[in-house]
Amino acid sequence: MGNRESILVVDDDLDFLKVIRHILEARGYRVATASSASEAISLARKRFYHVAVLDISLPDTDGTELLSALLDIHPDITAIMLTGYSSLQNAMQSLNRGAFAYLEKPLDPEHLLSVINRGLEKQRLVVENRRLIGDMEQHNREISVLLAVSQAVSQSLDLGQIIDSALARVIDATPAGAAWVQLVEDGRLVLTGHRGLTGEMAAALNVTAVNEGVLGQISRQGIPLTLSRAAMYSQPTLVPLAEDGYQSCVGILLTIAGEHIGVLGVAARTYPSFSKTELNLLAAIGRELSIAVQNARLYEEASSARALRELDAMRTEFLATVSHELRSPLAVIKGSASSLLQPDVRFDEKTWREFLESIDKDADTLSRLVEELLMMSRLEAGALEIKREWCQPAAMVEPVRDRLKKLAPKHKLGIDIPRDLPRINVDGGRIGEVLTNLVENAVKYSGEGSPITVTASGNGSEVTFSVADRGRGIPEELHQKVFNRFFQVDSDKDGRGRGTGLGLAICRGIIDAHGGRMWVESKPGSGAIFKFSLPTGGGEER
Ligand code: ADP
Repeated sequence: MGNRESILVVDDDLDFLKVIRHILEARGYRVATASSASEAISLARKRFYHVAVLDISLPDTDGTELLSALLDIHPDITAIMLTGYSSLQNAMQSLNRGAFAYLEKPLDPEHLLSVINRGLEKQRLVVENRRLIGDMEQHNREISVLLAVSQAVSQSLDLGQIIDSALARVIDATPAGAAWVQLVEDGRLVLTGHRGLTGEMAAALNVTAVNEGVLGQISRQGIPLTLSRAAMYSQPTLVPLAEDGYQSCVGILLTIAGEHIGVLGVAARTYPSFSKTELNLLAAIGRELSIAVQNARLYEEASSARALRELDAMRTEFLATVSHELRSPLAVIKGSASSLLQPDVRFDEKTWREFLESIDKDADTLSRLVEELLMMSRLEAGALEIKREWCQPAAMVEPVRDRLKKLAPKHKLGIDIPRDLPRINVDGGRIGEVLTNLVENAVKYSGEGSPITVTASGNGSEVTFSVADRGRGIPEELHQKVFNRFFQVDSDKDGRGRGTGLGLAICRGIIDAHGGRMWVESKPGSGAIFKFSLPTGGGEER
């Protein structure tokens, strides 16, 4: 007789109560009795009863009212109504209000016991059914959370975004009020994403040594690790959370192939906070996050390998260009000098002079190429010296005016820099080099006799220079590329007087070093306008 179900019997007939108690206790039930509705209600408020046996006529209230009150308190209670006289109407009313059965007095004890047994059996089925449905719903919720996280992992490589959406799900689907991810970087744990943390909490978690703190502890004790509020006080990184009233915190280790790569942390304001199923869900989310981190790392490696390959290809191309560029003038110099040195050949003065002029011109080309290469490497190393001085744009251009004119003897070169522009704090020599390069290009890429115009305009914050030609122009898709190192439009790669594709990269490097910007406006066929702006520095100059 192992029955330990509890039964509440309510009847105003005290003798009846005694008898019933005796019968039920003899069958192993725990029995409580009440002689009025109010007494029954106060007993029910204190604990759950599996079965209530209620007399339908009570001194203080109608038995059916008491039935409703008890069902309000314990919806699962199995209620059996007792009627002193056969009244179909009363019985129906009780059943309508949720009673399991009704019995007529005088009571047949065996009948009562068998009804109680059936009622309990039904109750067990209802409770079990509800538990199964609850489990299934919980399972569904977990699956949908995991599905959402793994979808994010498989559809995106943006680690920050994946972590953020996973943390949002953690907070939605578990009692966590705060959740965060710390990843191992250079031997330290760095806070990579968080939800629900205040600035102070995030700062405390931000950068910590890997072997100390939670990760160290999780690695030693296995996963997941649950810390109570008292334990949180002993972790400096978690103190702000404890002080804010968080009662517990769980750390899930993130691993890739056995390597510890970080921690998924969650904190809740309740204790105990996370059920076993919720901990399993957190562990599964942790596994998805580990995959996301691995994907992002692989992608990064692949991208940098690709970038390296591209750089390598560019270098090879550059070496080919440079050696070609070096070889042509060197061949001329070597050929001219060897000819002049032939002991048995005498050249007339005109030929002799032509050889010397070739040597001179190609030596200039060589030295310019070397200059450009050196300049590029200085710019890339951030080592270009810039001697800034406050100057008037028009005055700054004056020293290069003649040089520019000489570059364009067969073009109509106009230089028109207004004298009332704001002053700029620049290295005039370097800006002169930029203008020289742009005018050289304008000469190279536009027809003889066509105009080339150098102008400038200004506003409060910057002065913009422009060099415009009426040459072949540059297609829009190349507007950015022409500034790349070694970039040359294919048709310019070979032929007379070609450059190295370094000129514009150097110009932009110089302008960048001044805090300015450079761009081109052009439509093929209608010429190109190269522009660069330099900040005026507002009122800082004086
Ligand atoms: P390069 O030494 O070949 O002139 P740059 O870096 O100065 O190298 O220029 C890169 C490429 O941009 C050139 O090869 C040319 O195709 C194009 N380019 C530069 N300036 C002009 C211009 N004014 N008009 C048309 N194309 C130009």
